[in-house]
Amino acid sequence: MTAQEPQTETLETEIRIGNHSIRFSAQFSSEEVGLHELLPLFQNITDKVVDIAAAEASEQGERISCRSGCSACCSQLVPISKAEAVSLLKLIESLPGARQSEIKSRFEYNMAVLEEAGLLDELEQTASDHDKERLRSIGLKYFRLDLPCPFLRDQSCSIHPYRPLSCREFLVVSDPGYCADPDPEHVKNVALPKTVSPIIYEMCSRDQSRDRGFIPLVRLLADAESLLAGQPDPAPAVAWVQRFFKRLCG
Ligand code: SF4
Repeated sequence: MTAQEPQTETLETEIRIGNHSIRFSAQFSSEEVGLHELLPLFQNITDKVVDIAAAEASEQGERISCRSGCSACCSQLVPISKAEAVSLLKLIESLPGARQSEIKSRFEYNMAVLEEAGLLDELEQTASDHDKERLRSIGLKYFRLDLPCPFLRDQSCSIHPYRPLSCREFLVVSDPGYCADPDPEHVKNVALPKTVSPIIYEMCSRDQSRDRGFIPLVRLLADAESLLAGQPDPAPAVAWVQRFFKRLCG
């Protein structure tokens, strides 16, 4: 009996984003893949959505405040999907030993400060918490601890091409000074016509009542084992992508 050759399927679609359309055409294998293997596609679509939102904000006379070298938002509580967690773990393991050690010790330091502040338990609950007010309150407590992201280097993101979807989606038109105290009354985000990150979180969750499909980035190394074991089951790439577009356009 000969093994069946993997088939390829072309997926073509056009999605409406704000006042713009994005045409999408790509070939996918019928072979099963992990969701994390499709992250470059989701990152690419996120970047396109953000570009459109930024252009529309400019057309309405808004000025995007985010600039290279401004890292005020990189001390926030950053959510990452379980799929992104796997990619980031692989990325860290691919780095030279000295850089790996530096990043790992920064994660450890941040976790030690959180433990000292008694925030670890609250942080663990964010993975299943649906209460927006409580999540906001944890986010503010976290921000006030002033714990820069372990990937921040010389005030820039050292993993910029691979940064999480939530980092890509964070763009403000308010005074950058307000980002030092993320009070929603003062920080004005660019309104995105679509947000990709919640779709990926949902696709990573096996049971929304107990697991929202994301973790706080700061827990990446501490939760590595359970993250690798708790990935969504592999599925044909085309099925993943169809499910994604259905949610994006729904
Ligand atoms: S991953 Fe990069 S952009 Fe995101 S918080 Fe960390 S340093 Fe900032």
